[in-house]
Amino acid sequence: MIGKIKKYVKSIMSEKRYEHTLGVAKSAKKIAKMYGVSEFDAEVAALLHDCAKNRTIEEMKRVITKEEELSEEEYNLPEILHGFAGAIYARNLFRIEEKNILNAIKYHTIGRKNMSQLEKVIYISDVIEPGRKQEGVEKIRELVYKGEIDCAILIETEEKIKYLLSTGRVVHTNTLEMRNSILLKHGKRCKLLF
Ligand code: FE
Ligand code: FE
Repeated sequence: MIGKIKKYVKSIMSEKRYEHTLGVAKSAKKIAKMYGVSEFDAEVAALLHDCAKNRTIEEMKRVITKEEELSEEEYNLPEILHGFAGAIYARNLFRIEEKNILNAIKYHTIGRKNMSQLEKVIYISDVIEPGRKQEGVEKIRELVYKGEIDCAILIETEEKIKYLLSTGRVVHTNTLEMRNSILLKHGKRCKLLF
């Protein structure tokens, strides 16, 4: 199964994206182990998280709207659609029925409140995989490997929201809800760590 998925994603991706995908898989396995999540599920979700990214926006909208209605914000946020479409391709191409894996793929860009541990693992692995060098990534990586994945997601989400606001972009409701729910649950502890 893993070999088949790797072969498939390699065949549809640029070298750069494939390298990113392998990086996410590597981090996801390691982080899954730390947080008591199935390493197999983490590897499958990680390998497929960007599997729809080479599709056109029209194509993604077509496959998604066959299954669910997109909100106005989703319809106008093409950069998030590859998560939604990716979950559908993962199910259709590899017969993955496990909801937790599909949701980890679906929500890897926007997140959502009360994510499962697997969803968190994929969300944060996408940000901190070894190929990521963006400013501030070290701090987030450090928190994840210290056992503070919620705080890592909180910082990352706050940075993401600030960035979206500063560039005049739409912020998906899920992202705000995720930030608020972590803040309410873990905010005090996280602030001490930042
Ligand atoms: Fe992605
Ligand atoms: Fe990615």
